[in-house]
Amino acid sequence: MVSYDKRFSIAHFDRFHGEYASAFYTMMKNADASYIKSIHDIYFGKYFYYEYNGQQKRCGNPMGVEASDDQIDYLFKIQEELGIEISLTFNTVEVPHEVIYDHEIRKQFVEWIGGYYDRGLRSCTMSSAHILRTGELQNRCPDMRWKSTVNQIVADAQQFIDFAYLGYNTILLDRSLNRNIKELRRIREAQNYLNSKNPNKKVLTSLLVAESCIYNCPFKKEHDSVGEVIGTDYFKGIANLSCNGWRGSKNFAKLPRSGIDLVASDVSTFNKFAELTDIFKISGRLTTPIFSPDDVKYMKSVWFYDNDEKFTQVVSKVGETIYADNFDDIIKNNLLPIHSWIPGWIDTRYTKEDFKTTYKGYNGIWSTDKGKRLEKLLTSCRNQCWDCHECERTFGTEDIDSALQLRKVINVAKD
Ligand code: SF4
Repeated sequence: MVSYDKRFSIAHFDRFHGEYASAFYTMMKNADASYIKSIHDIYFGKYFYYEYNGQQKRCGNPMGVEASDDQIDYLFKIQEELGIEISLTFNTVEVPHEVIYDHEIRKQFVEWIGGYYDRGLRSCTMSSAHILRTGELQNRCPDMRWKSTVNQIVADAQQFIDFAYLGYNTILLDRSLNRNIKELRRIREAQNYLNSKNPNKKVLTSLLVAESCIYNCPFKKEHDSVGEVIGTDYFKGIANLSCNGWRGSKNFAKLPRSGIDLVASDVSTFNKFAELTDIFKISGRLTTPIFSPDDVKYMKSVWFYDNDEKFTQVVSKVGETIYADNFDDIIKNNLLPIHSWIPGWIDTRYTKEDFKTTYKGYNGIWSTDKGKRLEKLLTSCRNQCWDCHECERTFGTEDIDSALQLRKVINVAKD
């Protein structure tokens, strides 16, 4: 049986600030040991703040949110008390030129990461290939595991090899590999080849399996640039020109092609991907609190079954919320669709019975013959939707060549 111990890279809830600062820590402390054992690491964002040419500047974070200092204290407590590695995420897509080339600023930058290293940080996402290549970070933090960012788009085996020689220890694979199992297999072969040459320094792979962006979204790069400044405000205005258009379309939003996430409904498909990648990364840093700060003590981290398949946590309901402590139970019992299980929480005052009582069997699209056929196709369709349309035909919706055909008619300035 495929092991799911330490297999999931999960997001810290970076927006749980102020009165919620201890919430993530409390949920994790309340979690069952079987939940904890499935977690590979917890990643969190933080900006690098500095002064340049008399200006206060910051960089590091295309999502535009960062963990507070209080939250980071709690993250270190999680690492010490629960033994889960925490991982600083510096994944800006545009590293400012002065951070790379100004010797003094780069020194400050390396020392900023070094400060966390001295506290015990041993995992860090580093989007600056140039800074990593200088070797200064490695000298300052010799035992750090350097992760590439998914935004560096490692989509084939040669790129994987290049990124490993660049100095990355965990290589984030492009989302497109959720639909290209053949290339994922080639990357595994490259990884085995490389690791057999360097048995003491194993390079790992991590696949982003849940994020809900379209394949190679043409807005992605700009979104990440403006997101660094406006954060989640992006979705309140300017996203009406981009993803609010297709995410708001009822018919299109339910199709697998509306987000390049892993579709592995059945355990046999899920295991196939698990055999080819070391870590499944699940997005979630923008998660918002939906409970009162006074109730934090009742919350418990669990595997949460998202009925609507939208990757969102909802309020715990008596007798309705479906959860599991142990990911192995989800696999052993083939609790379809496997891809609908996300790291979330329950309110222990209302949700007392786990999946054994509340999971009623699944008879949705992925249990039908046409759904099973699509699941198989999606493992290797390579996202050429204009020439395929199998998603629409399976779900009984109209053919669409591009998500870009779905737009909101809006006045951005007034929105
Ligand atoms: S429409 Fe075809 S190419 Fe596009 S995601 Fe669906 S199966 Fe893949």
